[in-house]
Amino acid sequence: MILATCEICTHKLGYCDPARMDNPMRGSDFTSPDQAHGFPAPFPGVLTWLDLRCPMCRRRPFLREDAVRGDDGRYHTLGRPVAPRPKDQGHAERMQARIEAEWGADARWGETRAEPPAVDQGFRFWCEECQFGTNTPVAWSGHCRSKKHRRATERAAA
Ligand SMILES: [Zn+2]
Ligand SMILES: [Zn+2]
Repeated sequence: MILATCEICTHKLGYCDPARMDNPMRGSDFTSPDQAHGFPAPFPGVLTWLDLRCPMCRRRPFLREDAVRGDDGRYHTLGRPVAPRPKDQGHAERMQARIEAEWGADARWGETRAEPPAVDQGFRFWCEECQFGTNTPVAWSGHCRSKKHRRATERAAA
């Protein structure tokens, strides 16, 4: 514990334990220098660094938000790390742009992989009913005798 002092007027504010304090510090981190005699705590507990005021000079008693000055004149850094800065505004937009770029590439890749049109004039033999094509006579005669083809032609004739 150290005896925190106002950096403006050197008033002895109260005791605190900087090693166990978060940033931002809170009024409830401090106890009266003479609590045993019933003196109230120096700050309302809910206040944080920005709103703390010295009971003597009415000014913010700590100039640094990450440290408290003790009555030894030294700064005692708060034990917890500095709260992270507000998120970079542009970050979310850059991430969104990246996602869209990647999805866009995926979509284009998908297009190039899409099945070619079913009607392909490149085959020597082409069955319109089954949308089947081949270049070999053996496969073609096999197709024409197949159940699949007969069902398709029956459907087409019906
Ligand atoms: Zn003061
Ligand atoms: Zn067929």
